[in-house]
This record gives sequence, C-alpha cells and structure tokens, in this order.
Amino acid sequence: MVLDILEKARMGDELSVEEIEALLSVSDETELKALFDCAYAVKEAHVGKVAYFRGLIECSNICMKDCYYCGIRKSNKNVERFLMDEEEIFREAVWAYEAEYGSVVIQSGERQDAAYVDMIERVVKRIHDATNGEIGITLSLGEQTEEVYRRWREAGATRYLLRIETTNPELYAKLHPKDHSMEERLECLQRLRRTGYQVGTGVMMGLPGQTMRDLANDILFLKAMDVDMVGMGPYIPHSDTPMGEEIPPYSDAQKTSALKLGLKMIAVTRIVLKDVNIAAATALQALEYTGREQGLKCGANVIMPNVTETDFRPKYQLYDNKPCTDENSSMCRGCLSGRITGIGETIGFNKKGDAPHYRKRVSAD
Ligand code: SAM
Ligand code: SF4
Repeated sequence: MVLDILEKARMGDELSVEEIEALLSVSDETELKALFDCAYAVKEAHVGKVAYFRGLIECSNICMKDCYYCGIRKSNKNVERFLMDEEEIFREAVWAYEAEYGSVVIQSGERQDAAYVDMIERVVKRIHDATNGEIGITLSLGEQTEEVYRRWREAGATRYLLRIETTNPELYAKLHPKDHSMEERLECLQRLRRTGYQVGTGVMMGLPGQTMRDLANDILFLKAMDVDMVGMGPYIPHSDTPMGEEIPPYSDAQKTSALKLGLKMIAVTRIVLKDVNIAAATALQALEYTGREQGLKCGANVIMPNVTETDFRPKYQLYDNKPCTDENSSMCRGCLSGRITGIGETIGFNKKGDAPHYRKRVSAD
C-alpha cells in the first residue's frame, strides 16, 4: 500500500488526504526507509543536494502574545526580557554575511508598536545597504498590518516566516487565548503575499490532541497556499507554560517518536510540494543531536544556524533544552558545516537560495 502511494507520487499524481495520512502513519522500518529515500530523490531532482544556511538572529524575547505552548509568552514571569539594540542586530547580520551565509532571519516575540516597527525598518535597510543587497533578509516577527509588512519589504526584506501552527481551528483555539485569531493569521499570510514576500509558513507536530489527519490536512493547506518556504518543527514542552505544565519532560522514547514524526512530516511535505524550501528546525536537534542532519536526509534543504550573541541565547527558550544556547556563532558554523558535508551535501555559501518554486511562481505571474 505505502509503496503503491510512493509510486503514484513518483509518477507525478496528486495524493489524497487519505494517502498522505497513510504515509505519515508509516512505522515499519522498510517502509520508512522507502519513504525517506523517495523524499530524498524528490529533493535531489527539484532543489538539489545543497543545504542553505540562514543565520538566525533572535533579537528580542519581548512578546505581546500569550500562546500557551511558548516559553517566551507574555505571562511567563520567569523570563528575563531583552531587546538587542540596532547596532547589535546589524553586527550579527554582518557577521553572517562575512561568514558567507547567503541569508539572515530576524526573529522575535511579537510587537506592533511604532518604536519597534521603526527600529526593524531602519536595521533592515542598514543591512540591505551595507551588503549591497547581497544577503537575503527574512523576517519572522509575527502578525502585522499590511502597511508594516510593506514598509519592511521596501526596506529590503524579501522573505517572511509566519507559521499557521495548525490548520485545525478547534486545535488552534486550544493552543491560544481567545484574542489570538486564526482568521487574522490567515489574513496576514495573504497580506504577505500581496506585499511581494516569499512566504513561508508551517505547523508544529506532536501537539496534544493532534491527529495524523490534522497533519495530512496541514500539508494540503501548504500546497493550496502555494507557499515558497516551509518552516515546521516538533512541539517540545516548556515547563513554564500552560501546555508544558501538564506534560512531564519527554522520555527518550517520546523524543525518538517525536523526531520520527518530524522527519516523516518533512519527507511527505517534500514529496507533495516538491520544489519549495523546507527548513530542518532547530527543535529536531533538541530531540536528537543529529536531528537536523536527519531532516536534510528526509528532504529539508535549509538550516538556520544561530548567530545570536551567546549571552542572549539562554533567554530565548521557546521550549526546554533548546540546543546550542552555550555556543557562539563560529562554533555553530564549524560544527554544522562538518556535519552537513559529512552526509554528502554541499553548503550553499554566499547564495540566497531562493526556492525554485518562487522563481517559477514569479515568472508565471
Ligand atoms: N513571534 C513570532 C511568531 O510567533 O511567529 C516569531 C517567533 S516564535 C518564537 C517562532 C515559532 O516558535 C512559532 O511559530 C512556534 O511554532 C515556535 N514555538 C514556540 N513554542 C514552541 C515549542 N514549545 N515547541 C516548538 N516550537 C515552538
Ligand atoms: Fe510570542 Fe511567537 Fe511565542 Fe506566540 S509563539 S508567544 S507570538 S514569540
């Protein structure tokens, strides 16, 4: 059955929600290997065996939102809040540029106030001008008005990551307080598309109450949205959050199964969406040291090494045991590069690495 579905995908046929669910439910080792091999072949054919680096700058853990799963949510009083100054963000972006990373991702908790919006606009413009537009600038700064997205786009940002988290409305409502709206998030994704960004979205896997059917629907959502980039990762509890308080720390067996689910989602997303960029999330490495490389072997083609100053890293704990919080940027570069070339991939140094899907979409417009 599974091999038949993979053959159907190989022939270029669309998969149904039941077929996608069947692929996500694979547990037999032989079938799992066939799934991962198929995803890797699709990756090789559509985006190549190249891993692109995006230097991740986690510039502030101040957030006006209160998502029940997230360690830096507004109500977590155990977090020491920080905001990098403009100079610091700029310096880290230039470090990434000089380290030959083709892109940076600027991420933070959500803030919509004018001072923050203006600061981001200025720093994006500075990075863009200082690098002659040679470094790709991705933002992951949450929900904003169309005007704000446009201003940041005009300052030089070209990509935006905003996860939908889950496409099941009942589950979304359980993960968020009442004033966090799924409709608004969907509208933000449309705003991003209208303002000319390469749009990335994705979900968390392994959420309490989430089913394989939910995840299969998530993949079909990504396809229907015609996204250019996918950023998804396993949910990992944080003990100071409403959701994490109810879940004891993962046992080794739970980590293994969460990792396996994360890898299957990457593989099936690659098979269904083919030519998009898919990130191997840092959360994979929190479950197993080589989790991100395993992600590359299952179809991901983007890695986001942390370039945030080491002092800030422990304060950006989205989930318990986040990896690399005691390393500096050079250590991350060296250690990841070795591990990636070790699995037979090249690194797209000095390349922005736009998804072929984006290039085709734009030339078809
Ligand atoms: N505030 C922005 C937003 O929410 O889009 C960007 C930063 S937010 C920390 C980035 C992502 O972290 C979220 O989209 C969410 O999926 C992920 N995240 C938060 N808590 C997590 C957890 N406990 N386990 C795994 N991922 C988590
Ligand atoms: Fe804030 Fe993003 Fe965390 Fe939600 S996921 S609490 S918006 S940082």
